[in-house]
Amino acid sequence: MRRPVMAGNWKMYKTPAETTTFFEKFQPLAGNAIDCEVVICPSFTNLTAAVEAARGTPIRVGAQNIGWAKEGAFTGEVSGPMIQATGATHVLIGHSERRHYFGETDETVFKRTQSALEFGLTPIVCVGERLEEREAGRAEAALVGQFQKGIAGLNEQQVARIVIAYEPVWAIGTGRTATPEIAADAHRVIRAQVRGKFGKAASDALRILYGGSVKPDNVKSLMAQPEIDGVLVGGASLDPAGFASIVNF
Ligand code: PEP
Repeated sequence: MRRPVMAGNWKMYKTPAETTTFFEKFQPLAGNAIDCEVVICPSFTNLTAAVEAARGTPIRVGAQNIGWAKEGAFTGEVSGPMIQATGATHVLIGHSERRHYFGETDETVFKRTQSALEFGLTPIVCVGERLEEREAGRAEAALVGQFQKGIAGLNEQQVARIVIAYEPVWAIGTGRTATPEIAADAHRVIRAQVRGKFGKAASDALRILYGGSVKPDNVKSLMAQPEIDGVLVGGASLDPAGFASIVNF
């Protein structure tokens, strides 16, 4: 049985004070969920406030990116040891907004994933095809390419410690969710890649989340797919009651 992960990506929203307020409201509604892992990923500047607010609860906190070096002349980057020192335990890597606006590539995704693992953080590695790739019948090829270049170079011990999020770019922030069947098909493509490279035990154990316009009213049908091991939620994770009803689906 794969334990579901219900993760929230806050993107570039909320101040530390707003982070604390969120947790005050969210905690009584869903903060003690034990049949899934709840991970909230705020901006770097809110990690400490989030970790403080989540103390004593099973809620975990993640960053939204990680530098690939331990330290050095990398202006604007935040390293694994820095993230780890806040008490965060997870990190999003290769989100499509990072790929689209900031030139993130499969090669940098791989380096950042290795860095997260080196510093004891759980990487949530995002993959997903663009609309034009899906329309051209190249969705599967896009996912395979991202897997091969961004993930396949890890070793077996490393891959056992990652989570993958399938996030079709055309579904992120658009209100256009992938149908549960489309999402499950994509998850099967990714899982088959993991199996081919790392074997059955690794692919059976790997958690693959779906992300893209997940809302309280569609989470149930997505989670009904045995292939879907949780969700990565953007916009709808900003509201404590809304995200709680997703977690408690
Ligand atoms: C995301 O940011 O990872 C995401 C899936 O966004 P949204 O839920 O808003 O589509």
